[in-house]
Amino acid sequence: MKGSFVIGRIKGIEIEINLSWLIIFGLITFTMATNYFPQNYPDLSPVTGWILGGTMAILMLLSILLHELSHSIVSIKQGIGVKKITLFIFGGIAQMDKEPDNPIQELKIALAGPAMSLILFIIFTFIYTLLNYMGVESYLIAPLIYVSSVNLIIVLFNMVPAFPLDGGRVLRALIWHFQGSLQKATKITSSLGNIFGYFLVFLGLYIAFTGNVLNGMWFVFIGWFIRQLSESSYQNTVMTDLFTKIKVSTFMSKNVISVGSHISIEALVENYFYKYKFTSFPVIDSDKVIGMVTVENIKTLNREDWDRTIVRNIITPISDDLIVHPENNVSAAIKKIFQNGIGRVLVMDGEALTGIVSRTDILNYIRIHSQLEE
Ligand SMILES: [Zn+2]
Repeated sequence: MKGSFVIGRIKGIEIEINLSWLIIFGLITFTMATNYFPQNYPDLSPVTGWILGGTMAILMLLSILLHELSHSIVSIKQGIGVKKITLFIFGGIAQMDKEPDNPIQELKIALAGPAMSLILFIIFTFIYTLLNYMGVESYLIAPLIYVSSVNLIIVLFNMVPAFPLDGGRVLRALIWHFQGSLQKATKITSSLGNIFGYFLVFLGLYIAFTGNVLNGMWFVFIGWFIRQLSESSYQNTVMTDLFTKIKVSTFMSKNVISVGSHISIEALVENYFYKYKFTSFPVIDSDKVIGMVTVENIKTLNREDWDRTIVRNIITPISDDLIVHPENNVSAAIKKIFQNGIGRVLVMDGEALTGIVSRTDILNYIRIHSQLEE
């Protein structure tokens, strides 16, 4: 996510914090230190107020992190890798390599997060009840009470059956299991997501106009965010479904323009890049494809070296990431296109180059399809 920095790794999963989260961290600490503690415990020193406020914010961050980690660890156990977890203004996102293959997988992964939050709620409640019983000062217990209720709210909010919230995923898994269609299940649950999103927006506007502007705007933001997520994840599922049904051979562009490996960069830029306006070309050496040459490759050279360097010396050599078979489905091609950093894949039938699929092709297809099917 843009504006995020990595704070560490747990079980190979990168943990990053988005700058937007720091705003929340600051806001919670600030409100606690300047409002809550001075009002309820006037004798407390300001420093103690700030420390307690900060501790509370950190406990909340840890709670959200554990929720996402729980999703992630179950996901990895189900064979779906998780690259990173991002903590941001509205909570956390675990970035999974792919969607679950079957409803049971989805159900387990979706329930893992809320289950963890429920456990945290019980643990925090147990601790503060115990401390209370032991007669510990109530200002020390207050942050624990707050964090325990935050965990309960996380459970309740996430279990609303609106996709892409966890509850929506649970419902999607159930519909998928009993009706057999992932697409249908996604359609139903993401329209619930859309409705829930609008509900929060209107609720937020109501709250804002009846007094509490800040709280109200907060609901509006979250509602709008959920609405957008539900829409894009529906599109995503429909497209993934569609692209697994289309073969690369019917989708690819067939008139591939390739370049010889021995021409100079000067000639390459003039006769290919500026002429055809593509951002990369396959490179041929004695009838064999040996790699791709991209704008990025050229940028590694100084301008004055263009006439004495040949294409062969700067190519990205051919690798599995750059090739798909004509019989593969388009989603396999998309995966490689977004992984290899070149924005296209070569379609090879054995040694023969039969076509090319680019990111632009995919995006144009999606645009045309969504306009025609609306
Ligand atoms: Zn969750």
